[in-house]
Amino acid sequence: MSNEGRRWFEQRKEFVGRARPAEGQDTPDLLTRCPSCNEPVYNEALAENKQVCPLCGHHFRLGAMKRLELLCDPDTTPVHHDDALAPVDALGFVDSKPYGKRIEVARSKTGRNDAFVSITGRVGGIDCEIGCFDFRYMGGSMGSVVGELITRLFERAAEHERPAIVISASGGARMQEGVLSLMQMAKTCAALARLQDEAGMPYISVLTHPTTGGVAASFSMLGDLIIAEPEALIGFAGPRVIEQTIGQQLPEGFQTSEYLLEHGMIDLIVPRDQLRGTIVRVLRQMLKLDSLEVDDALVDRDAAAGGPVHAKPASSAGTEA
Ligand SMILES: [Zn+2]
Repeated sequence: MSNEGRRWFEQRKEFVGRARPAEGQDTPDLLTRCPSCNEPVYNEALAENKQVCPLCGHHFRLGAMKRLELLCDPDTTPVHHDDALAPVDALGFVDSKPYGKRIEVARSKTGRNDAFVSITGRVGGIDCEIGCFDFRYMGGSMGSVVGELITRLFERAAEHERPAIVISASGGARMQEGVLSLMQMAKTCAALARLQDEAGMPYISVLTHPTTGGVAASFSMLGDLIIAEPEALIGFAGPRVIEQTIGQQLPEGFQTSEYLLEHGMIDLIVPRDQLRGTIVRVLRQMLKLDSLEVDDALVDRDAAAGGPVHAKPASSAGTEA
């Protein structure tokens, strides 16, 4: 289309439209271009809004520590577990780079030993075993260490009779550890089964963008309650692989939270600003504790005043005093 006869600012607008860079690439200190509504958003406004676009509600990626902070009751201090557990290159795996090199790079980028943070924290006055993936560390991939951390999280929850919450953001099993990564799918699920069957404690799985591969195909889809953030990509294999395998075209919106909710694969889609309130309400219902107002301020005040609540259902809670 020719620009002739158009006023200069109309021409300019069209040019800017074509030249828009990808997410996070323009003026990183001040503004971020929202990939959904295509508008520039002040980083400060994004941070205040829990990394959700204030204009269209697009959910940007949120760091693991920030997620845990937003979930736990304010003025409580979570206990971190197994931070020192570090991966080894057991197979001497080399793709475009040696695995050992990748570990080094990921470690210096994130300041942690692997892609998972594991804590005991208080949520709505209830002590919970909580874990969150760090997607910056090799795409949140699950190798031996991540699998071990998740297994220990479920085991700790079973031992202390606490609920478990895992927030997933993962590309799947870590290919650099081969079958050792795949084994983690079975291992984490076995620990989870013991938590659910023997300890009778609930497990809430929160799926964020993206949750795929071996993580989507194991413990993250086994929550007693499965909550997803809006428009998250959730699935096992990518759409191209599936199309080639089944020889059919996939439907619109395939592998989004909304599609999965419609088809009964997940229970709820909860926007980030309501996530904590929803988890508090559901947890207290599951544990047959008195309900709290889901207004965040009220939940926090009650938790601060009442101190810790043992997660065991009311009928047997009398043993702890
Ligand atoms: Zn937006």
